Amino acid sequence: MSIENPMKLAVTGAGGRMGQTLIRIIQATPGATLAGAIERSGSPHIGQDAGELAGVGHLGIPITDDALSVFVGVEGVLDFTTPAATIEFAELAAQARIIHVIGTTGCSAEDNAKIDAAARHAVVVKSGNMSLGVNLLGVLVKQAAKALGEEFDIEILEMHHKHKVDAPSGTALLLGEAAADGREIGLSQHSVRVRDGHTGPRQTGTIGFATLRGGSVVGDHSVILAGEGERITLSHHAEDRTIFARGAIKAALWGKGRKPGLYSMLDVLGLSD
Ligand code: NAP
Repeated sequence: MSIENPMKLAVTGAGGRMGQTLIRIIQATPGATLAGAIERSGSPHIGQDAGELAGVGHLGIPITDDALSVFVGVEGVLDFTTPAATIEFAELAAQARIIHVIGTTGCSAEDNAKIDAAARHAVVVKSGNMSLGVNLLGVLVKQAAKALGEEFDIEILEMHHKHKVDAPSGTALLLGEAAADGREIGLSQHSVRVRDGHTGPRQTGTIGFATLRGGSVVGDHSVILAGEGERITLSHHAEDRTIFARGAIKAALWGKGRKPGLYSMLDVLGLSD
């Protein structure tokens, strides 16, 4: 994408933590420009200038709740909102044939089926974590799970800020999927998402999750492979949200001119096998 003809992007959830970060990073990215900003109906941010809200000065982009009218004038939308909002945006982005980059986590199987349907008409890039580091970690976790086998118990530990509403995090699930892929098993049939009370001994071959919440932690994840007498820990620490925003913008730029379909950050980063 040339700098003279930057890709026009919209941001949904423009008033949110990721929305504001995206607005700031788009402005700092050659080859991309902010061309629309969306919030939910009734949001106090409607009518406010997106740049002023994000602290980068006036951009002349008023925040609106009319997503379709924005989508017809842009080439891609970066969406870090809620599952209910994301499935609506998926339908509208497919209608407008624009690239939909989905960072929203906590989507149900039913939500994902709707996103799959939208991806028949438009390019959709969806990932529970848009950072290079976590996607590389997923590749390493898959290799480790494959190499070490069932005698190593796999546990995934995550911590996030106190405002996060879904658990386990999308990233923890992404890492769980990577471990399950390495073992050639399905995550949903083997995951243990909660332990409480008299649980009995750990079942061989399961993948456990533990969730911590507190303070302002952007995102810490560790995958622990625990064997008899030794333990391997693979970790990632997100220090600020700009890593996710940069990944999302990269995904939108990468998606330009591709065939409709559902892609992941592994595709964007060239890490898929
Ligand atoms: P947040 O601060 O709560 O932001 C979400 C924003 O979306 C809020 O401003 C919210 O408005 C808005 N929103 C809700 N419904 C909407 C609708 N129908 N239309 C337009 N806007 C709507 O949350 P966040 O921390 O930015 O995280 C957002 C999502 O991204 C979460 O699912 C989080 O897990 C995920 N995330 C993913 C990654 C990744 O790399 N994939 C990284 C970080 C976060 P109100 O507050 O007014 O309701």
